[in-house]
Amino acid sequence: MVRKSKLLGMFIGSLLIGYSSVSFAYNLDPYGGHWEKGVDYTYSIASSISDEGVDSIVLASDQWDTIRKKKFSLEYSGDRNKQNNPMENINGENEVFKIDMGTSQAPANARWKYSGDIITEGDIILNSSRNLSNSSKPSKTAYHVPSIMVHEFGHIIGLDHSDNKDAVMYVSPAGTVKYQLGKDDINGYNAIDW
Ligand SMILES: [Zn+2]
Repeated sequence: MVRKSKLLGMFIGSLLIGYSSVSFAYNLDPYGGHWEKGVDYTYSIASSISDEGVDSIVLASDQWDTIRKKKFSLEYSGDRNKQNNPMENINGENEVFKIDMGTSQAPANARWKYSGDIITEGDIILNSSRNLSNSSKPSKTAYHVPSIMVHEFGHIIGLDHSDNKDAVMYVSPAGTVKYQLGKDDINGYNAIDW
C-alpha cells in the first residue's frame, strides 16, 4: 500500500512538472479580439519606409504564415500609402506607418479597432525616433525591425505579451534578433477563437 501511494505521488509530481514546462505562457488579447472567419489581413506600408524596411516588414508578417494549418493570412498589398497621421487614420485600411513618437515611446506600436470582439482594422506604427535596424546583426542599442514587427503583427492577430522568453510575443530588449515563431507563439495562435 505504501509503495503504491508513493508511486502515485511520483506520477502526479511528474505530471505537474510536465504541465509547468508546457506552460501556457502566451496571453490572448484581453478583449478576446479576433478577425472575422475567412477575412485575411492585407496591409499597405507608408511610402516613407525604405525598401529595406519593407523587406523587413514582409519577412515579419510572413512568419505568421508559416504555421501549419494556419487559419489566417497576412499579405502585403504592395501599396505604399501616403498617410502620415495614423492617429486620425481609422479608415478601415490596415497600414504600417513610420512617424516620430518621441524617445519615451516604444520602438513600435500596434493599434486596432473592434466591432464587438471582431478586429476590423489593425495599424502598426514604427517610431522613427528610436534606433531601428534592418541589419541581421543590429547593435545592442538598436531594434531589429523584423523582430519587433513579428511581435506587432502578433498583437494585430489577437495575442498579448507572453511570459515565455523564447516567444516573439515576449517583450525583448534592444539588440534582440528573434523573428521566428516559438512553440508558445504557435500555441497562442491556435488558442485564438478564430
Ligand atoms: Zn507588445
